[in-house]
Amino acid sequence: MDPLAELDARVTECAACPRLVAWREEVGRVKRAAFADWTYWARPVPGFGPPDASLLIVGLAPAAHGGNRTGRMFTGDRSGDVLYGALYEVGLASRPVAESVDDGLTLRGVRVTSPVHCAPPENKPTPGERDTCRPWLVRELEVLAPRLRSVVLLGAFGWQAALPAFAAAGWRLPRPLPKFAHGARVTLERAAPPEAGSGPDAPGPVTLYGCFHVSQRNTFTGRLTPGMLKDVLRRAASEADIPPYARA
Ligand code: SF4
Repeated sequence: MDPLAELDARVTECAACPRLVAWREEVGRVKRAAFADWTYWARPVPGFGPPDASLLIVGLAPAAHGGNRTGRMFTGDRSGDVLYGALYEVGLASRPVAESVDDGLTLRGVRVTSPVHCAPPENKPTPGERDTCRPWLVRELEVLAPRLRSVVLLGAFGWQAALPAFAAAGWRLPRPLPKFAHGARVTLERAAPPEAGSGPDAPGPVTLYGCFHVSQRNTFTGRLTPGMLKDVLRRAASEADIPPYARA
């Protein structure tokens, strides 16, 4: 099994956060009326996207009736509609809507993940849960590192949760730590280039982009418009050397 597939399989078995284990399973039992005929995933949701991704998108955590229901990041909720709709329009997703794991959606050069893999009550993981889940993101970054060139961090939580993971995975954080803002852009160099190896597969710098989260609160109020999101995605895709897609 390739390292990323193995990681994805292992994370779905994690039960390290008692509060989140109880919540994800209770939501799966009680369900939302509109999804009464679904068998909820009700487990940790792994990252989604190809192993050769050079662009990573980092959210917050799966939604109770979205990823926690379908088993795929940002699949089956309004935030995902906004994110995948934008990815489709900039040529990074094969279809504009993500409904279920077997809907045929594929991503081009992009992977989507989160610093917390289980749905939290009120979309608010505790600092302890965030820290407990960090090793999964660190390992994901280590596996992606040889090709990874840019990262879009959705919201202040994703930004703050991800910075220590980049440090643990071998990148150097500037001091003072960069602050989250929509449109923020910062490049992280490797902490120890000689030990990190050389040649085409050696991990290189990554450029982080801050973007308001695709939450309903942000998109309904116009704080984050589709144009703003697509602009960040285009810049990050360009940084990651993903060529513009000419849709026929
Ligand atoms: S949030 Fe992360 S660490 Fe906690 S149970 Fe889920 S997968 Fe495990």
